[in-house]
Order: sequence, then C-alpha cells, then structure tokens
Amino acid sequence: MSRSVLVTGGNRGIGLAIARAFADAGDKVAITYRSGEPPKDLTAAGVLAVKCDITDSEMVEQAYKEIEEKHGAVEVLVANAGITNDQLLMRMSEEDFTSVLDTNLTGTFRVVKRANRGMLRAKKGRVVLISSVVGLLGQAGQANYAASKAGLVGFARSLARELGSRNLTFNVVAPGFVDTDMTQVLTDEQRANIVSQVPLGRYAKPEEIAATVKFLASDDASYITGAVIPVDGGLGM
Ligand code: NAD
Repeated sequence: MSRSVLVTGGNRGIGLAIARAFADAGDKVAITYRSGEPPKDLTAAGVLAVKCDITDSEMVEQAYKEIEEKHGAVEVLVANAGITNDQLLMRMSEEDFTSVLDTNLTGTFRVVKRANRGMLRAKKGRVVLISSVVGLLGQAGQANYAASKAGLVGFARSLARELGSRNLTFNVVAPGFVDTDMTQVLTDEQRANIVSQVPLGRYAKPEEIAATVKFLASDDASYITGAVIPVDGGLGM
C-alpha cells in the first residue's frame, strides 16, 4: 500500500537514501530541504521536493499544506534534517549552541507536532527520528550536537508513552559515522582514528541507515516503539 511519507533534509546524504528507499517501494514521498537543489532523477521519479527551513514554523506549516494537498496527510515522518557546528566548550558561543538545538531538536519538535495532527486523525502513524551515536556517547567538540541528539531520545520516548494508545510509534535511529557531506569536514587523520574504533572497520553507507528506517516504518515493526536502534558498525557498544 502506498503511504504518504515525508523525509526532512531529503535532498542529500542519509535523507536522500531514505527518500529513495521509500520511493523505490512505491510510496508517495515528499522531501524538505533547506538549500541546494534535490537531484533531478528524484523529482523525475515523482518525489515532491519542498523548500523548508525547519527553524521557521511558518515554512513548516506551508510545507505540510503543500504535501497534504498533493499526497494526503503524512503517515510516515522521518525527521532527518540536522546540522553540526563543532567547537570546544570555551570557544562555543551561545549562538553556536542554540542554533544547533533549534535545528536538530526544536526543528524536529516543529515537524513532529505538525505531522501528529494528521496521524491522530488517521489513528495511526510512524515517526522515526535520526539521532546519532554521538547523542548516546558524547564527543569532544560536539556538546551542542550531542545535547540535541540525546534530546531526541527523551523526546521520542516521551511521545511513545504519550501516544502509544493512539496507534502512533516513535523510534530513534542512531547512526555512527556515515559517508556524507556532514563528515567531509573531517581530516584524513580524524577519519582514520574513527575507523580504527569501529568494529566493522569502516564508515556506513547512507543506504545502510535507510534500511533500518524503512524497517521501523514497516508492518514488521508494528510492536516497536520508544526504541533507540544504533546503526553504527558496533562503535557505541
Ligand atoms: P547532510 O549535511 O548531508 O544533510 C543534512 C540535511 O539536513 C540537508 O538536506 C539539509 O538541507 C537539511 N537541513 C539542515 N538544516 C536544516 C534546516 N534548518 N531546515 C531544513 N533542513 C535542514 O547530513 P547527513 O550526514 O545526511 O545527516 C542527516 C542526519 O543524520 C542529520 O540529522 C545528522 O545529524 C544525522 N547523522 C549523520 C551522521 C553522519 O556521519 N553523516 C552520523 C549520525 C547522525
């Protein structure tokens, strides 16, 4: 059955792999993105691309209106959009901290809250949040990012308790290091150091994150909620 799926930050990296996975399965997929352009083959395949900055509530509302008009209410939400802005604590300004929280955590709140309107009406819904192994373990220079990603865990688990009786599930995927634009900023030395700590000895491919997200949104995961699933090559165990 074709579902209305929304992937935030779906124009590249992990979000793009997730959008492709749902589109390949025949779902009606919408993506939102903040900048750049979505790949032409994605939109040519019928994926609806909507420009939307999730730090802006009005843009989020407009994006949902467009998606609902074209695809119907969102049945599966993958809140994937996120940023980093790494600094050691003593060099981290309040703006460095709050801007990361505003995108990764409050931005997720904005899109989840809006999706829930339709999900509650439909009496079903699947929400998958993309956190990070860094949210579980912490990482020097990423206190802002780690706080935002740890926050997603408490957010999802609270909603799993609050809305489980309404047939909505909320799960978290915590990727390790994945080959995307986000990790291109790392030096070769930093990469080698990370890889040396990963039991599987390599970065993840975005498709490997997408496969777990797709599972959590499938009927096979109907009794899973409030779970935090690491997809990290064993890094966080
Ligand atoms: P990326 O930088 O390639 O893509 C990030 C996406 O988020 C882009 O589509 C961008 O447009 C969107 N985005 C950022 N700020 C936004 C905003 N304010 N409004 C709307 N969209 C916004 O990153 P990625 O590696 O594909 O990461 C995707 C998610 O996975 C992020 O939440 C990231 O924290 C998480 N993650 C990534 C890794 C990794 O190693 N790459 C590891 C763990 C978790």
